Amino acid sequence: MKSFLLFCCCIASGVIGFTQQIRYDFAAPNLAHHEAEISLTVTGLPTGPAFFRMSRSSPGRYATHEFAKNVYNVKAADQNGKALAIEKVDADVFRVAQHKGTVKVSYTLFGNYADGTYAEIDPTHLHLNMPATFLWVKGLDKAPITLRMTLPNPAWTIATQLKPTADVFTFTAPGLQYFMDSPIKAGQLSVREWKVLNPDQKTYTFRLALEADAKDTAVDAFANKVKTIVREAQAVFGEVPAYDYGTYTFLASISPYVKGDGMEHRNSTMITNPRPFINSAVLPGVFAHEFFHCWNVERIRPKSLEPFNFEKSNLSEALWIAEGFTQYYGLLLMKRAGFTSDADFYQQMAGLINAKENTPGGAGHTPVENSQMAVFVDAGVSIDRTNYPNMHTSYYYHGGALALALDLQLRQQFRRSMDDFMRELWKRFGKTERPYTLPEVEKALGAVSSPSFAATFFRDYVYHPGSVNYASLLKPAGLRLEKAAGGKAWLGNVRFQADRNGNLVIGGNTVRNTPLYNAGVDVDDVLLQLDGKELKSPEDVDAVLRQRKPGETLPLVFSHRRQKQEATVTLAEDPSFTVVPSGTIGEPEKAFQQGWYGSHATGIH
Ligand SMILES: [Zn+2]
Repeated sequence: MKSFLLFCCCIASGVIGFTQQIRYDFAAPNLAHHEAEISLTVTGLPTGPAFFRMSRSSPGRYATHEFAKNVYNVKAADQNGKALAIEKVDADVFRVAQHKGTVKVSYTLFGNYADGTYAEIDPTHLHLNMPATFLWVKGLDKAPITLRMTLPNPAWTIATQLKPTADVFTFTAPGLQYFMDSPIKAGQLSVREWKVLNPDQKTYTFRLALEADAKDTAVDAFANKVKTIVREAQAVFGEVPAYDYGTYTFLASISPYVKGDGMEHRNSTMITNPRPFINSAVLPGVFAHEFFHCWNVERIRPKSLEPFNFEKSNLSEALWIAEGFTQYYGLLLMKRAGFTSDADFYQQMAGLINAKENTPGGAGHTPVENSQMAVFVDAGVSIDRTNYPNMHTSYYYHGGALALALDLQLRQQFRRSMDDFMRELWKRFGKTERPYTLPEVEKALGAVSSPSFAATFFRDYVYHPGSVNYASLLKPAGLRLEKAAGGKAWLGNVRFQADRNGNLVIGGNTVRNTPLYNAGVDVDDVLLQLDGKELKSPEDVDAVLRQRKPGETLPLVFSHRRQKQEATVTLAEDPSFTVVPSGTIGEPEKAFQQGWYGSHATGIH
């Protein structure tokens, strides 16, 4: 998504003679049943077979998705409307073997799932994520694209980051990468616009295009909260990016009929939140997270995501930066904007610390390994069971925990901060739009700290899953790391489910190095007795544990696939941390807190 050509010349050998151009026409005559009728007309095709395909991945969503499953009635015609033979040659690929340079392919699309990845066609709205919606032609990635939308309702508004034209229903894109990155929302949208000024005196238009059952005054108040987030994020980098076509758009549906999601794009984000707007007096943190992405990942971009491959997921080793640092800043910006209480912020930080220190994936696997799992776990669908609780921790949390560690360490040791580090990454890779590698990120960290600090950090925490001493890092902030349930007996973080016979069933994988795992208890096993007491409910387990201490051993009876097992379980202490004020907060600690999570947006209007 980083670069694109505005013009395309017929320099390829064998081109029949027309400029290569792609035109899409979108209509939705069967809204009630979620169908759209779409065509793409391609001119300037080279001689030889032309291949049309649906994508299998979508920018910002890192797992593979089979979008072709909702495409049917595929037909092809020539420039005069005469039918051409088209055959399906792969699950998501269609071939037109004979043509004279112009081919129009038309198809029906079904879409009934509104989130950041898929498409929905409904009497209430059109919600189009492009890879889930539009077939494309192979080999013409650089051909300019025109899209004409036929709206089913004249009262609807269209919002998108595509380039507008004089005709409000027609949009353009300079090529496939930008087109596929530009979702469309059409419906009864409340639009709010404001300007943001950069230090170079250039102004950019911000738009909130909100679908919600909300009064105008509520939308105004909501837009003001989004503006506050924009100001805090701008303060981190000192400027907003130079958005293409001068505009950044928050596309947002806050409605019970969408699925919860947030998806970043180059000059927009698609946010879907299924709670009623009446409960949205609090701005969802996803706005802060997604907006931070317009720097981190959209422009400060790992080389492993470039160019974006629509045929299979890109494998990336750097999502702990792209998503993890963004996760940290999503929380931090909400705090700096005044939308999070101290206590909630401390618990969010404890959540990051627990993910890093107290999960097998965070404590035993590197952030690189966890990033590379994204091709399976990022809304990926599988029916077979996995062992994720024992070998994977989300790169969002692992990376967020490393961002927290870095922020605290840079502040203490170098009087610098994550903000300085992000600005350095922005300067080196974002403004220049030069994708980074991990060794280059290490160098950038060295520039805001010292090369030896950066080398040690990468050796210990990026290429090895080293343990971070958060307790000492939190001290100058006047915060203490404590065990959340210190001194209490614990069996492990297990989910109990009652089955239809009233048995107490283990509802998920038991976790390595926890008491039940060590006793040989597995998912779906039924716990029968602990310390001689019958178990029928989680409360029965708690009643036994309340009488006992960590380190004690108890007899345990359980059944595995109807086979009765007798074991001994050694109770442990729950390793989960909580973060609390240390009680003695003086001026230095207050100053540290202000520098870390106080508002940074003073002077930005
Ligand atoms: Zn994200």
